[in-house]
Amino acid sequence: MNVLIVLAHPEPMSFNGAMFETAVATLRAAGHTVATSDLYRMGFDPASSRRNFTSVKDPDYLKLQIEELHATEVGGFAPEVEAEIAKIEAADLMIWQFPLWWFGLPGILKGWVDRVFAMGRTYGLGHIYDTGVFRGKCALLSLTTGGPGESYTADGFNGDIEAILRPIQRGMLEFTGFQVLPAHIIYGPVRADSGQREAWLVAWAERLRTIEHESPMTVGRY
Ligand SMILES: Cc1cc2nc3c(=O)[nH]c(=O)nc-3n(C[C@H](O)[C@H](O)[C@H](O)COP(=O)(O)OP(=O)(O)OC[C@H]3O[C@@H](n4cnc5c(N)ncnc54)[C@H](O)[C@@H]3O)c2cc1C
Repeated sequence: MNVLIVLAHPEPMSFNGAMFETAVATLRAAGHTVATSDLYRMGFDPASSRRNFTSVKDPDYLKLQIEELHATEVGGFAPEVEAEIAKIEAADLMIWQFPLWWFGLPGILKGWVDRVFAMGRTYGLGHIYDTGVFRGKCALLSLTTGGPGESYTADGFNGDIEAILRPIQRGMLEFTGFQVLPAHIIYGPVRADSGQREAWLVAWAERLRTIEHESPMTVGRY
């Protein structure tokens, strides 16, 4: 498989950094081709603006989706956006590695989606959900939390993690045609001891060694 791993963490020595390095090494050792987008180290600009484009449809009023459709037609995406779209297009499996921040994606990853999931090229024109542009590809969220696992159940004080992840898994991934593999969630790595953290890295590598045989999950609607 061609695998794209996107990392959104400001500290390379973080547990998210270790999960990322484990994934890259394990998947390469298993014979897969791995591309990466380490967003902080790339200095990726998450703010969507005219800088997304080299082309201009309407110089007087910026309507991003109109400019995205135009850029799709004329090949007018800025090089840093084009490069990320091309990585997704080449991937059979996309993994996002991130810490849960405010019940969602870190801003740099949300901004990557804002800029890279462009209308025309990645969705729209009748291509959403089951007819999505990226159908045939799989995606997997690999995330860490601060809160413990029992707080992320339907009765827990944070609520059901599946519901928290649905805007990402349904509204971004399934919307653009990806099939979603069950999320890999490490609850509270900060409070764990180093032995537990090492065991989590081993379990992550074990899962990845046979990831191509996994079946997608049903994300469900809102
Ligand atoms: C803005 C913001 C919003 C947040 N919102 C939420 C929220 O909504 N919900 C929630 O639950 N939490 C929230 N948090 C907490 C956050 O999700 C956690 O702090 C984060 O997920 C922990 O992961 P980390 O990679 O940053 O851990 P780190 O603190 O980087 O790592 C944990 C430990 O693992 C160690 N480690 C690193 N590499 C290895 C290795 N190879 N082997 C063994 N140990 C290793 C590190 O040294 C460290 O001791 C928020 C935090 C911030 C900053």
